[in-house]
Amino acid sequence: MTPVTAGVSPIAQREAQYDAIIVGAGIIGAACARALAADGRRVLVLEARSAASGATAAGMGHLVTMDDSPAQLALTMLSLTLWRELGPTLPAEVEYDPCGTIWIATDERELDVVHTKRRLYASLGIASEVLDPRALAALEPNLRPGLAGGLLVQGDGVLNQPRAAAWLLDQAREMGATVREHHAVERISDHTVHCASEVLHAEVIVNAAGAEAPRLTPALPIVPRKGHLVITDRHPGFVRHQLVELGYLAHAHRMDAASVAFNVQPRASQQVLIGSSRELVGWDTSLNHDVLARMLARAAEFMPVLATMPTIRAWTGMRPATMDKLPFIGAWEPTHGLWIAAGHEGLGITTSLGTAQLLADLVAGRAPSIDAAPFSPMRVLASTNPQ
Ligand SMILES: Cc1cc2nc3c(=O)[nH]c(=O)nc-3n(C[C@H](O)[C@H](O)[C@H](O)COP(=O)(O)OP(=O)(O)OC[C@H]3O[C@@H](n4cnc5c(N)ncnc54)[C@H](O)[C@@H]3O)c2cc1C
Repeated sequence: MTPVTAGVSPIAQREAQYDAIIVGAGIIGAACARALAADGRRVLVLEARSAASGATAAGMGHLVTMDDSPAQLALTMLSLTLWRELGPTLPAEVEYDPCGTIWIATDERELDVVHTKRRLYASLGIASEVLDPRALAALEPNLRPGLAGGLLVQGDGVLNQPRAAAWLLDQAREMGATVREHHAVERISDHTVHCASEVLHAEVIVNAAGAEAPRLTPALPIVPRKGHLVITDRHPGFVRHQLVELGYLAHAHRMDAASVAFNVQPRASQQVLIGSSRELVGWDTSLNHDVLARMLARAAEFMPVLATMPTIRAWTGMRPATMDKLPFIGAWEPTHGLWIAAGHEGLGITTSLGTAQLLADLVAGRAPSIDAAPFSPMRVLASTNPQ
């Protein structure tokens, strides 16, 4: 194990029973626990509720290449490479399915975007294929006729994300990590976490508390961004790829009004998972029936049969959103020994493995395989204190 260099307190070193304490057992905390344990660190994970019960339980499990910025593309590419490497070793209950994504174009303008994406992906070695209307209909016969085409990104996939998080935690445990659920952290100070009944020290503390990370590190600008999902009854073979309208990209970018986009996923249970919506309404987790109705109407515009398909459950979840659409991964210098891995918005399932690898490399002082600078949480202080 390579020692951490930054700000090691002699008190922490003397008293520490653990090398690393991770706050939060969502998929990000779970992946970080696995990566830090793999480096030989004695890891403790503290989770306020149950493991994988936050945004991780509420999401969709789409593993997707996204190219809103070079940094986002680098992190999603790294993460997808890691998921594909893990794929054959994942147990069946994780339901990993490398089904690919089809981005759907409704008109010629969106078809131009399809071609631009394909050229970009080809230049980076990401496999993708432009689909004309006939090829699109052959791959997904339940889409409505009259669509302009699509882009199939073969290397994307889907999985059952709470089970993936549980598996990552199990892997960490096998390497010696301890996981304590129903054990909330109240405060973090230099090399120290403060809980109701105890104070624990470690060389490395990781704030992986998702949308709640600012409760422990108040300067972090992470806000909950609500999303709705609906799941149908079983309909074997109804949808075969993750299907997303190209208009989803504009929807994901908007930080003002509530928006909806067509986004459906095949589940191993043979159910169809229908998304998605985005709203900034604080911590209000209630169903917004207007948004839900718009979301289902949008889905039926692309797949008309969905209008009559029985649905069995609808729920909401809170994406941990940042204003620049990039997560915070790296050292938080104002607090010695504190590292942040939070703010993954709608991509945390995808980017969990890349985040964990990046964090473990930074903690160990290894050169990361992608540029870590765009993810540094210190950008927050740089933007509020221009020199
Ligand atoms: C509707 C929806 C759809 C989504 N679809 C996708 C998708 O298809 N693909 C994708 O990649 N991503 C998707 N996401 C995003 C993804 O779910 C999140 O980015 C990801 O789950 C964030 O993981 P996390 O571990 O940071 O947060 P969380 O899963 O919220 O975990 C944080 C944990 O920290 C714990 N915690 C908080 N405070 C404390 C404390 N003080 N002490 C101890 N523990 C604490 C919480 O209890 C929680 O368990 C979706 C999200 C939503 C809501």
